[in-house]
Amino acid sequence: MTENIETPRLGEPFLLTPGPLTTSYRVKQTMLRDWGSWDGDFRALTIEMRQGLLALTGDTQGLLDCVPMQGSGSFSVEAMLGSFVPRDGKVLVLSNGAYGKRIAQTLEYLNRAYTVIDKGDYMPPRGAEVTAAIEADPAITHVVIVHCETSSGILNPVKEISDAVAASGRKLLVDSMSAFGAVELDFSEINYVAMVSSANKCIEGVPGFGFIIARKDELEAAKGRSHSLSLDVHAQWAHMNKTGQWRFTPPTHVVVAFVEALRAHVEEGAVAGRGARYAKNRDVVVAGLRDLGFETLLKDRWLSPIIVTFFCPASPAFEFNRFYELMKAKGFIIYPGKLTVAESFRIGCIGQMDEHVMRKVVEAAAEALSEMGVNNAAPPESALIERAKLAA
Ligand SMILES: *Cc1c(COP(=O)(O)O)cnc(C)c1O
Repeated sequence: MTENIETPRLGEPFLLTPGPLTTSYRVKQTMLRDWGSWDGDFRALTIEMRQGLLALTGDTQGLLDCVPMQGSGSFSVEAMLGSFVPRDGKVLVLSNGAYGKRIAQTLEYLNRAYTVIDKGDYMPPRGAEVTAAIEADPAITHVVIVHCETSSGILNPVKEISDAVAASGRKLLVDSMSAFGAVELDFSEINYVAMVSSANKCIEGVPGFGFIIARKDELEAAKGRSHSLSLDVHAQWAHMNKTGQWRFTPPTHVVVAFVEALRAHVEEGAVAGRGARYAKNRDVVVAGLRDLGFETLLKDRWLSPIIVTFFCPASPAFEFNRFYELMKAKGFIIYPGKLTVAESFRIGCIGQMDEHVMRKVVEAAAEALSEMGVNNAAPPESALIERAKLAA
């Protein structure tokens, strides 16, 4: 693991961003070769990839299948919604950030009925609210939850939501884009009909496709339902099972890189191993930045091992763009915040980075502050009052 991280990185900065992220030299290297999409060798890699992903689900009964889909992660979200929600269905969207909002916007485009529980920027949706919403609106057929809402970094309570949805006899769809592969989403516990993730998140591949993991009976039922030719999950699944090929041109280099990334994921100890490294990354950067006076948006209980939001310091000497440029000059690309309540920035914990790298991130932040003349990184009082509203 550390070996990969220490391999020459061609002078590029570390991406402290939630995908695209820093990939290993080993993964990059696989892309130096061209592949025929029809060829048996490439078809074998597609099979290895689908099986490798299914092996991470905890499905012991063979109920699930994996369908890769060209495009960025949002294409797969759109494909999932259009293929698994019947045209006369109704979706309850649990929204607490940008990706929940995007799901609602997608349903609007798809002309599917939906209703939203909007928890604002970072409050978690709770099981009791879901139960109440379904009781109040029996037309609801599906509930969609974002596993880790990457815009704040909150790890949403999927188990609690899954239990509420199952108890109400409705169907669950999960956007596990930024969590799958590092946070357990065990099919024997989380009763989903379909979930999505993509190549450039916790498996540490490069961007270019997403994948839908769904119940085979739901895949069968999705036939003829999609609004879109290219995003029809059933059609892609049926074609792939019949021919071993993707329906339209696959991102061959990206697939080959992803298969290599999956092999490295297994070597690291799969979900548990990957999750442990990311959790350590988070712990080091959170403790280090707190020592400098920074505060996290979320209380510890809600912090994901994926990405963490920090409030910008109240000091008038602090300016985000300057901080960004100083961090970049030191080799780290950070991520702007997305909150409406306060100025913030985000530090991603995913990608080819370990605790040693995260210690250097903390050192770089300390230097950047001193170069800016900020001697206290504490946030404004108003930010802390806002945070106090969140359950411990
Ligand atoms: C990254 C991400 C997506 C997909 O974003 P794309 O830019 O389309 O790849 C969707 N949902 C979540 C939670 C994400 O983190």
